[in-house]
Amino acid sequence: MNNEEKNKIEKSTLYLVATPIGNLADISYRAVKILSEVDFIAAEDTRNTPKLLTHYGIKKPLISYYEHNKRERGPEIIERLKAGESCALVTDAGTPAISDPGADLVDLCRKNGVKVTSVPGACAAITALTLSGLDTRRFCFEGFLSTEKSEKTERLDELSREKRTVIIYEAPHKLTSTLCDLYKAFGDRKITVCRELTKINEEISYTTLSEASAYYEERRPRGEYVLVIEGAKEEDAVFFATMSAEEHIAFYEKQGLSRMDAIKAAAKDRGVPKSTLYAELNKG
Ligand code: SAM
Repeated sequence: MNNEEKNKIEKSTLYLVATPIGNLADISYRAVKILSEVDFIAAEDTRNTPKLLTHYGIKKPLISYYEHNKRERGPEIIERLKAGESCALVTDAGTPAISDPGADLVDLCRKNGVKVTSVPGACAAITALTLSGLDTRRFCFEGFLSTEKSEKTERLDELSREKRTVIIYEAPHKLTSTLCDLYKAFGDRKITVCRELTKINEEISYTTLSEASAYYEERRPRGEYVLVIEGAKEEDAVFFATMSAEEHIAFYEKQGLSRMDAIKAAAKDRGVPKSTLYAELNKG
């Protein structure tokens, strides 16, 4: 099969079509072609997608497919695909199925024997990673952290031992508290804060967790953000990474340090102020 044949629309097929994450020009020729030729488009945001379609002169029937209607809408899309129609799935921005309900539709297609293919393109996580200046050989994509406090704390504790570069998506209204939580859990590390990627106000800050949390304590975050954080160092991972604050302090006490000096040493290892350790000890 040559490229021309491959690019002909196939019946009964779901196309995962990546769309721009900000700059409308960041779309492939193939994506425009597929969007122009499928029978219908399923979109996460039926207010946003028409702007893209109008920009490229595409007129196609549009239906919504998003978190709160995916249970009913998914099977309807499957029925239409089984009946011979072709569908393009687009999400609000970027690559469908990355931190959006696209993955559920792919799973439904798989369970129903419906063919799925991809028209790849922009993805905020990969764009941020490549700009981060951090190790790109091995990375861990976390997506959005839980909004539930204890689940978020538990996840951050696990992630603090992750040696690969960590990528996190965050909403602006939660950015300041997440940076503060990251600093508490990870200690001071390099972080690249990527804001409004590919847009007019794109900003890439190569900084540290302590600086970034202090910066956003003073300014209200605006726009879309991806956080790329340096992985745990080998020595962090082998020594105190799995110890609680109390165990860490006890480790130094056993080596003959006074309680005060043990707390000071543990705080230094963790890159946190002594007050953070006291707070943790008081939690029990
Ligand atoms: N499927 C998308 C992708 O491929 O990246 C991600 C969808 S997720 C619902 C939206 C999140 O992606 C935003 O909250 C933000 O963290 C990140 N994001 C999307 N566009 C961005 C941009 N232009 N700049 C920075 N972050 C962006």
